[in-house]
Amino acid sequence: MTVSNSTEITAIAGGGWAGLATAVKLSAHGQKVLLLEASGQLGGRARSVPVNNKRLDNGQHILLGAYRGFLDMLEILGLMESDIVYRKKLDLCIHSLHGSGIKICAAALPGPFHLFVGVITARGLNITDKTGIIRFWLHLLKTGFTLESDMCVADYLGKHRQSKRVTNTFWGPLCIAALNTTPAMASARIFLNVLRKSFTGSRHNSDMLLPRVGLGDMLPAPASRYIRQRGGQVNTNERVLEIIMDGEILSGIKTSCQDYSVSNLVLATPCRQTGKLLMPLPGLKDITERLGQLKQEAIITLYMQFPETIRIENDMAGIYDGLTQWLIDRRTCGQPGLIAAVISTNGPHLDMNRDELEKTIISETRQLFPEWPEPESTFLLREKQATFSCTCGSDRLRPRCESVGNGIWLAGDYIDTGLPSTLESAIQSGLQCADRILQKSVGNQTIRG
Ligand SMILES: Cc1cc2nc3c(=O)[nH]c(=O)nc-3n(C[C@H](O)[C@H](O)[C@H](O)COP(=O)(O)OP(=O)(O)OC[C@H]3O[C@@H](n4cnc5c(N)ncnc54)[C@H](O)[C@@H]3O)c2cc1C
Repeated sequence: MTVSNSTEITAIAGGGWAGLATAVKLSAHGQKVLLLEASGQLGGRARSVPVNNKRLDNGQHILLGAYRGFLDMLEILGLMESDIVYRKKLDLCIHSLHGSGIKICAAALPGPFHLFVGVITARGLNITDKTGIIRFWLHLLKTGFTLESDMCVADYLGKHRQSKRVTNTFWGPLCIAALNTTPAMASARIFLNVLRKSFTGSRHNSDMLLPRVGLGDMLPAPASRYIRQRGGQVNTNERVLEIIMDGEILSGIKTSCQDYSVSNLVLATPCRQTGKLLMPLPGLKDITERLGQLKQEAIITLYMQFPETIRIENDMAGIYDGLTQWLIDRRTCGQPGLIAAVISTNGPHLDMNRDELEKTIISETRQLFPEWPEPESTFLLREKQATFSCTCGSDRLRPRCESVGNGIWLAGDYIDTGLPSTLESAIQSGLQCADRILQKSVGNQTIRG
């Protein structure tokens, strides 16, 4: 494909899951796309990284049965869900390092009874805790999971008289897992959105989808093949440096390799880079300022290789009173004996050095599983800007999925999809962005016709 002087091309800056979803949907509708990724590989914050002859995911990515955008993408790409993810019903075991933990398992009943029975039969919660959760749940069902004005999750749970134990052992870990933001700061409105999507409707909405393949093979590799097969171009190691305007109309882009004339540009870059690219353009001060105000949260992963016989019952174990929050068995992803320890959100642990972090995580792991040997090897990954901080009121800072100028569009997990910073938000923003471009293109053809 000769792209340099064509005017009928949509350029997409950013080969993360948002950019890939946009490019796949446009390609599926016969549009020519040029996907430009600044780094050497596709996937963005959900990618596989080579480590000592192995490929490790840069972080543990767990999806939910309610993630329609992801499942639609698999369908467009002709992939079988069961080849890509391992679906299991909600079954949470959250331990304590010092006392007793809880176990909640969704029942095989239609929703919401699957959850009610799950709570009633939960282990580690007393009758007051259980009736408190069910009373709260009935309130959410009655009010449609909506909130007039946003508040932090901790205050919202307090307002609905959730006991300290239920908050610490159940809602807290759920909030951090879903929003990567502590309950003291997290937006109750976005948390309720996640609860509504995953715990209402079909009971399969609350299923957990664990990757069966490395992140690079889940979406980036099949998506890139799909785009190329339909005449699109996918370039890595090519950074978009500047947007070229002709008056108020987009005319092209300057990249680290060359200049292109393009008819549409989708910025599927993380919010800060998007702000920087938009900054020189007139009339976008408000949006660039808002993007600059979205704060970032970290996620740390310590991979520990044990003998292949080591396994975690139910594939994952939570810890609510340690530094380590989750231990995830990578067996489902074809890596037996490999355990990933996860610490989400910002906190004092970001100042700990590698040795301190490793020692603490390994010691907590041994407290939980005293029969396990020392790990044979370890590998630490720190993602300092893993997600945007889903704080109370952050939805006011998130732009809608619409054109920000003639021919310039935005996609990314930070778009106001109502979801936290997740793969699903990234995919949904990409699919919506492609729909808007297709609508515009149909409109233009109708006018020309
Ligand atoms: C450790 C970790 C664990 C996570 N766990 C989960 C989870 O369990 N479940 C879940 O749903 N989500 C999880 N997430 C969040 C999820 O990965 C992100 O929400 C999602 O990947 C964001 O996708 P995106 O396409 O919006 O942005 P990105 O993935 O950031 O993609 C943007 C791309 O743009 C590229 N780029 C930047 N500037 C330019 C430029 N000028 N020109 C060209 N390219 C450029 C970047 O290199 C990048 O590849 C996790 C994230 C991390 C890091």
